[in-house]
Amino acid sequence: MQKNKKLNDGRIRIAIFGCTGSIGKNTIDVVKTNSARIKITALAAGRNEKELLRLADELKVSNLALASKSKIIPSGEDALRTLAATADYDIAVNAVAGSAGLSVTLGALDAGKDIALANKESLVMAGDYIMRLAKARGVRIFPIDSEHSSLQSCLKGRDADEIRRVFLTASGGPFRGRRAGTFDNVTVEEALNHPTWKMGPKITIDSSTLINKGLEIIEAHYLFNLPQDKIEVVIHPQSIIHAMAEQNDGTIIAELAPPDMRIPIQRALLNDGVFSSPLDLLSIKALTFEKPDEEAFPSLKLARKALRMGGTAPLVLNAANEIAVQSFLEKRIHFGSINDIIAKTLEAHNPQEINSESDIMIADQWARDFAGGDRLLKELEN
Ligand code: MG
Repeated sequence: MQKNKKLNDGRIRIAIFGCTGSIGKNTIDVVKTNSARIKITALAAGRNEKELLRLADELKVSNLALASKSKIIPSGEDALRTLAATADYDIAVNAVAGSAGLSVTLGALDAGKDIALANKESLVMAGDYIMRLAKARGVRIFPIDSEHSSLQSCLKGRDADEIRRVFLTASGGPFRGRRAGTFDNVTVEEALNHPTWKMGPKITIDSSTLINKGLEIIEAHYLFNLPQDKIEVVIHPQSIIHAMAEQNDGTIIAELAPPDMRIPIQRALLNDGVFSSPLDLLSIKALTFEKPDEEAFPSLKLARKALRMGGTAPLVLNAANEIAVQSFLEKRIHFGSINDIIAKTLEAHNPQEINSESDIMIADQWARDFAGGDRLLKELEN
């Protein structure tokens, strides 16, 4: 399979899925500052047709898709996957939020195209299945998640047996320091107020419960083929160190960078590149580290439990979380119930191996029905 079949002018062609969201916008920014090296050949969005059309006009891209219904461009549930499978590009930037991003990853895999992956849910839902397909089809997956981008750089050139364990850092979110049992009155607005990163609503809520870090443990497990007991989480409120790797001799390799998603995006697309505002070491007053409070934030334990259960369990964790976050955003449940919904859904699940897309669909639907079901919601109210 031909890789990075660049344009005659040498530019890498990218397709951006989720172009109207936060990662999508940052990707367009990276393309603008590297326009001699990258060209956008396809754009896709979820619901925001007006913004998609505006971007298409501005960037002169005609190959488009929209997940919700449209009268003027290819649209509907399968439109993004079809675009990923058929468009002319070298790297798919998968910046779709949540489980909807899986179809883009599968579409790029259908076409044997490389993937710059911001959609961690693809790997959480079907990490083993996707990594197997990627290997079989010669597809490279470049992480855009900042921790995994940094971890890849910390691990570069080192054998797996030289590494004792790795650390993913977490800012701790808006509720760092809050004790277990004090979350009942948390409002949607408080949970959406992230201290260091500007992101979309789903991932911002996920950061406030710390399940985002739980999903990232699962993501790192599949991406780097690391056993989960080698993946630690450490709270680092400054968000300057994104990941670390501890070697057998006790030394730790860390990568420091400003909390700016354009850095991992640029690295995924170009592997190098110039960044206009590098980290100013002298402006950093302190770098601090804390152990996560797993009693107040049980989501890390839930993610580890899902990995131990194996098969469809991480997928079920993800689906239950999506349903619970949606219910919280719609103000139908308490903040504290998000974890309860995930825990109860995992408890009721009997994990199966994933060998096909229908295995994924069946487990995903089961988890959504269970997590959003009246029976569970009534049980939690009491
Ligand atoms: Mg991250």
